[in-house]
Amino acid sequence: MEEKSNRLLLKQREQVLLIHSEVIKQFPELHALLLSNERITYSLTQQCSTDLQRILEYDINNIVKTAGEEWIRRDGPPLDKGDRRELWDNCSLCSAPNRYIYYIKNRRNSVTLNVGSDCIDTFGIEKTSNKSEAQLRKGAREARLKQELNAKFGGIVRMIEGMNNEINDYPILVPDVIATRHKQLIADVQELYRRYLGENETDFDKFQLFLNKRSKILEEIDVYVEQHKDMPLVVTKEICDILHREGKASAIRFLANTGYINGQNVEHVDIPIVMRNILPMVTNYIKECGAKVVGIHNQTRSYIVNIGNLNYNFFIPHRELMSLCGKSVFNEVQVKPISIDTIIKLAKIDDEESVSAFIQILSRKTRNSPVVIIAYDLQFSEILLRDNKTQEYVIVSMNDLIQRLKDILLIRGDSSPRLTEYLSKQWYNKRLPQDDLVELYPRYRDYFEKKKKQSR
Ligand SMILES: [Zn+2]
Repeated sequence: MEEKSNRLLLKQREQVLLIHSEVIKQFPELHALLLSNERITYSLTQQCSTDLQRILEYDINNIVKTAGEEWIRRDGPPLDKGDRRELWDNCSLCSAPNRYIYYIKNRRNSVTLNVGSDCIDTFGIEKTSNKSEAQLRKGAREARLKQELNAKFGGIVRMIEGMNNEINDYPILVPDVIATRHKQLIADVQELYRRYLGENETDFDKFQLFLNKRSKILEEIDVYVEQHKDMPLVVTKEICDILHREGKASAIRFLANTGYINGQNVEHVDIPIVMRNILPMVTNYIKECGAKVVGIHNQTRSYIVNIGNLNYNFFIPHRELMSLCGKSVFNEVQVKPISIDTIIKLAKIDDEESVSAFIQILSRKTRNSPVVIIAYDLQFSEILLRDNKTQEYVIVSMNDLIQRLKDILLIRGDSSPRLTEYLSKQWYNKRLPQDDLVELYPRYRDYFEKKKKQSR
């Protein structure tokens, strides 16, 4: 207790700067306090008048900031007092001895102070301030008006200036139906505040009216939050924070419409925490067609889906799946079951196991076609094809081939002719004789040499 009360409420450098600034003349009682005490501590404030206590509590930061704006740095380099400490000068603001001395000048009263390299960087003192004398006077007047407003309604200035953020501090997203009224209140009070600071409004009752309205809305928000914070699909602050961090703040607009995640807005929130929450619903929906959701792939924001006898994993992106069937998943419409074909169309085959399994099926199915798959390389993500007629080779991107062929290959019905046709027509111009291929891609040298040995 003792320690805290002996702590400085105002740093020495702030106290000195204020004493030499013009804005302090707006606050005679504060001015007298600063002049008659060496240290402005918390315990000192207990002996002050209520008015002064309020100034020290609510207004002091703003007054210091306004004071800082009166000062500019003198042009030119600092004065170097050399490396002998005994020749150094003390900073006028904090008294610390300094080798490099800068000068700052108050543009309103022409007082000049020498300051050290620490203090020159405080108070936002610029090399040349872009504020005009008129703006500085206006700043001082506004500091005074803010203090008068705080004296009537303790802390109201900070409240008005920080009101844009208060709605974001709740544990869940406040829906538009309440939030828009809060926004309107902010707009109204900011207009009132602007008029007040411009001395075009002197009716303090209007601020009282604002405070009453604000309490009413905040009370309403409290009730809403209390009633909804534990609901399963409510949009939490955590979800909003993640969306902000991932640069998807625009998604919050869709969510704020209801405050809940539903079939219409769910496609916009492809984040793992939401995907985990709705996983039982997704599983339930997908199983109707015989497929099984076996997990979530966080990196690609996909559901990992296993289709019965095919025995490998499909990555179904949350966004695509939900934009197509979000409302069915949430039971908001007559549920339209998803088909295996649709799942395959949406799917990405991404992990190594699935890729290997897929290529093996592909090789088997194309064994008798004019163009066959003879090797693949996971490290380089490529597939080697051979044209049996010309004995030429071509290397193709594994991902491209998989994404194009998965529809042809996996959708039910006899797909072999289509597959063969596809493989034969593609890359017609890119085929190379074996020697040229090995020249261009030495990594296949081993493959061909092994082949040669085997055939002997
Ligand atoms: Zn200093």
